[in-house]
Amino acid sequence: MVRKVDLPEEYPPEKGRYARGNDYSPVAVCVILDTFDFNIPPVLEELLMAGLDTGAALSGMLQTENIGLEKMICNIVANPNIRYIVLCGREASGHLPGQSLLALIENGVDGKRRIVASQAPTPYLFNLSAEAIERFRTQIVAVVNLLCDPGETDRSNPGLNPEVVGKAVWSCFQEEPVQFKGYTLYDMGAHPEPPIVQKVVWKASKPWELAGTQKPQKTVSALVVYKLLPGTNCQACGEKTCRAFASKLIQWMRQPDGCPYLLKPEFAEERAALEKLLGTQGE
Ligand code: SF4
Repeated sequence: MVRKVDLPEEYPPEKGRYARGNDYSPVAVCVILDTFDFNIPPVLEELLMAGLDTGAALSGMLQTENIGLEKMICNIVANPNIRYIVLCGREASGHLPGQSLLALIENGVDGKRRIVASQAPTPYLFNLSAEAIERFRTQIVAVVNLLCDPGETDRSNPGLNPEVVGKAVWSCFQEEPVQFKGYTLYDMGAHPEPPIVQKVVWKASKPWELAGTQKPQKTVSALVVYKLLPGTNCQACGEKTCRAFASKLIQWMRQPDGCPYLLKPEFAEERAALEKLLGTQGE
């Protein structure tokens, strides 16, 4: 009999762009979101739904290599039944969340909470306990990597094909091991440790120390910083408003890369000005 555990009332602790399926399923689906969240292509929605329809515990989208990944970790360590992640969609060239997830599983974080060997701009997991990060790494026994290259549009690629994603999910909950694209998959039962219920909270009061950078020497006005932001309050950075993001920027709790608009060429001037103001240039 495969061991399963009942979940705490608080599960899943973090809200986000995901759907909750069968709590006892051993697999979650992670679709990389490579666009702004007000413009999600139907193919990514279809991948999410394919995960849900074929029996995933959670099926959702991941946009960033820091706060987005932290939220995903919170929801997974709260459900020890989840042992696999099916990674699909196409990599987001700005944030590289897919590569960061794989690097985290493979290498963990260093003493400054940076994901070792992540190639993303700001792959820091400041806001989770070390216990949660390590649990995530031992609880997840394999990431079934179907991720396509940035910009891929050919839906015959496994990572953009809902049928293949569904087959990957199905494979994970079989009682007997099955072979799927080089992975041996089966439902091995829940991780032996109890759920960890944790939310993302901004614990890093001095993140420049954690990041090994220098504390800013001058005081920067939040209003000046705010005026350099796009001002759409779209929340893609994980903050409720651009003002909130500006406030975190001046405290060095976030970096300009956290706003996806600022990675676009048309905002290059604003980003350069922010980096100069905040002293983050060249990190
Ligand atoms: S800073 Fe403003 S525009 Fe940029 S992601 Fe955050 S809310 Fe959206």
